[in-house]
Amino acid sequence: MNLHLSSADQAFRDEVRAFLRENIPAEVARRSRIAMHPPHNDDRLWWNRVLNKRGWAAPAWPQEYGGTGWSPLQQHIFSYESHLAHAPELRWQGIKLVGPVIYTFATPAQKARYLPPILNGDECWAQGFSEPGAGSDLVALKTTAVLDGDEWVINGQKLWTTEGQYSNMGFFLVRTAQTERPQQGISMIVLDMNTPGVTVRTIQMINGDVSTCEVFLDNVRVPKDSLIGEPGTGWAQAKFLLGNERTSSADIHKAFGDLARIRSIAAIEQRNGRPLIEDPAFCRKLAALEIEVRTLEWSVLRVLAQAPSEHPVTACASVLKIRGSELQQSLSELATEALGPRALREYTREQGFADADDDLLWPDVTPGVTVDQMYLRACTIFGGAKEVQKNIIAKVAFGF
Ligand SMILES: Cc1cc2nc3c(=O)[nH]c(=O)nc-3n(C[C@H](O)[C@H](O)[C@H](O)COP(=O)(O)OP(=O)(O)OC[C@H]3O[C@@H](n4cnc5c(N)ncnc54)[C@H](O)[C@@H]3O)c2cc1C
Repeated sequence: MNLHLSSADQAFRDEVRAFLRENIPAEVARRSRIAMHPPHNDDRLWWNRVLNKRGWAAPAWPQEYGGTGWSPLQQHIFSYESHLAHAPELRWQGIKLVGPVIYTFATPAQKARYLPPILNGDECWAQGFSEPGAGSDLVALKTTAVLDGDEWVINGQKLWTTEGQYSNMGFFLVRTAQTERPQQGISMIVLDMNTPGVTVRTIQMINGDVSTCEVFLDNVRVPKDSLIGEPGTGWAQAKFLLGNERTSSADIHKAFGDLARIRSIAAIEQRNGRPLIEDPAFCRKLAALEIEVRTLEWSVLRVLAQAPSEHPVTACASVLKIRGSELQQSLSELATEALGPRALREYTREQGFADADDDLLWPDVTPGVTVDQMYLRACTIFGGAKEVQKNIIAKVAFGF
């Protein structure tokens, strides 16, 4: 990392490095290097517990709720080093998405109930915002929650619910009232995914992963205190949450890992009898991408360093989301280009290579390159499509 670290920050980085070195077995690191989604969910939950024991599971949370009190730069160093060490990626839906909503908007009883299991990875959350007909236009969502005595009765359908099949809790946007301004009738509700009436159906992606779901809600009854905040405040909570999601969507630490992977592939792959890394045209492409990644890194740090009152539910978060997702696509395309025809070998995260011999023949940096490239076609869509981010920038920054 090309940052000028103070001696205190260097000491912090060394402490993090030593902790990661001592606690991540080689086989876990290998699995997390070649997988972006489950089936290795167990590694992620195990790592969640290891981090929580050390007090490092949710670096960005306020200390009173189990956060670290680290500066934005320290949080950045921690994420960067974790990626370099191939630490399993924690389930982000709890720690990065609903956790901050709960400690910001929920009642003391809800905080006490939901935050500790998120910190320890004991409960895994699914984000139920999008619906058929309500993705970019989220305010058009039709799922309803109607109060019946002491219970809300939920009916509707959610779509593209990432890792819904691995989740035992969900946070859902629902319509609790028909209002003139449709935003004012939306609320955020939490529910146990095992409640009668919840049906989760998996969707297979183009790359073979089974990482998203449809969720059907059919007369699902949940207690009255399952709503976060007052009825009708869900839209503000969703905007707060989506700001967080888009900032982390820059995925800057993954981008550095991708650059390293491309360099390793290019050192092994031969073109015209020489390692690809010696090909000037290829090196120009690699260098151009590295410049873009380092530029984005500084922008991410600038946003992270903003005071909480300037929380990035602004054009900044959308700019980071667009640039980060475009770069992820470019990096994965260059990795595939570096592999050449070998990128076509059949490989899935669940099964590895179709031909068992390939596991032995192929260098460790190659598995997952093609499945990543295919999956990342979606990264300019999830968390808010690119065109919609551009609309936000135009509105917030230029007043259109
Ligand atoms: C892999 C993956 C994982 C996901 N995970 C989750 C999840 O866990 N939870 C969840 O709630 N959702 C999830 N989503 C859903 C995601 O947020 C939506 O797909 C996204 O918001 C786009 O909505 P849509 O798919 O309905 O497309 P649409 O809104 O129908 O958009 C289709 C196209 O029209 C364009 N468009 C739409 N409106 C405008 C406009 N006003 N101006 C210009 N262009 C426009 C879009 O850019 C897009 O290209 C996931 C999606 C994917 C692909």
